[in-house]
Amino acid sequence: MPIQEAMVPGKNDIRQAREYIRQRLAAEESMRGSLGAFMEEAAKRIVEIAYKYRVPPAMFRFSRNKELQEEADEVIRWLERQIMETAHRLSMLEWGNESQVETDSIFGKNHGKTFMQRNGIYCRRFKYELEGSIAAALIIGASKEKLLQSIKEHFKSPYTNPIFLQAMKEKSSATRLLSNGISYGAGRTNSMYTALEKLSTHAVSQGWMKHWGDMHEGAEGFYSFRGSSYPCATCDNMAGYHPISEYQGGWHLHCVCYFVFI
Ligand SMILES: [Zn+2]
Repeated sequence: MPIQEAMVPGKNDIRQAREYIRQRLAAEESMRGSLGAFMEEAAKRIVEIAYKYRVPPAMFRFSRNKELQEEADEVIRWLERQIMETAHRLSMLEWGNESQVETDSIFGKNHGKTFMQRNGIYCRRFKYELEGSIAAALIIGASKEKLLQSIKEHFKSPYTNPIFLQAMKEKSSATRLLSNGISYGAGRTNSMYTALEKLSTHAVSQGWMKHWGDMHEGAEGFYSFRGSSYPCATCDNMAGYHPISEYQGGWHLHCVCYFVFI
């Protein structure tokens, strides 16, 4: 058999590689769903705590009251743990044979910070997103239920929350809500939901793709196939055969190319 023919990946291998990507995407979706549920739960608990303390609306800050602050921080630590544990479970711990090296390659330092450090930073910023929404709700006299509903609906853009916008109109001080040096409102378009979603689904994706490489240890090379019809010059360029040294599990964030080993 000519060598070239032997190098062509079989239909069954292609099918399996594509199926593996489908399973990976399902794991990412599961991460996304869990993240949303955890953040909703954290918001619910923190709103309950905040309303309980009856801080004057115009002065609402978690730091206004030591116990309030501590209770809110406890919820944030709970949120951090849930995200960390779920990302671990969905990315690699479920394989049961991960080594410290593998765990480090995904959860260890990357561009100066570990997964846990970024997770902590984003969760604490989420607390301030909530603080802004709670302060706004207190200013306009919105109920806990209404506030929670609108927080959930605006996870991806907390400062377009109508409660927040209304409070800014009603009271000019709300436009300058400040806490720990973070100002809310105008010009802020990123959300911590988006940051945490990116962080956690990427870890899940990396874990799966690392495992896919490990499963084919000893291969000499691999074929890269486009997994979507979305225009991407990078993935178009990378389609085709590569020596094994070039395997990196994906060509960019959210890459859905699939890889068949030879
Ligand atoms: Zn790709």
